Amino acid sequence: MTIYWERCSICGNYNLVKQCTIYQDVIVCPHCCLSCVKRRECSKPVWFPEIKLFAKREAIPGKRREAEKVFMELLGMLGEEEKS
Ligand SMILES: [Zn+2]
Repeated sequence: MTIYWERCSICGNYNLVKQCTIYQDVIVCPHCCLSCVKRRECSKPVWFPEIKLFAKREAIPGKRREAEKVFMELLGMLGEEEKS
């Protein structure tokens, strides 16, 4: 599985992206993949709620903890949206 740092086909932001499993011409960032409406039907989602890739980018320990907390909160919100 190749990971790119490119423009997401869904939101248009430059981010870490992977090729979507359902749509072969779509590259998707973690945020869009996790909030995708097709995620429940998707046999093999390319992104999972994990923070390792993001943690590496943070150089300042204090800021890193803060960033992880915010990110986990965001993931929690996405998870709730998925259920509704
Ligand atoms: Zn995106």
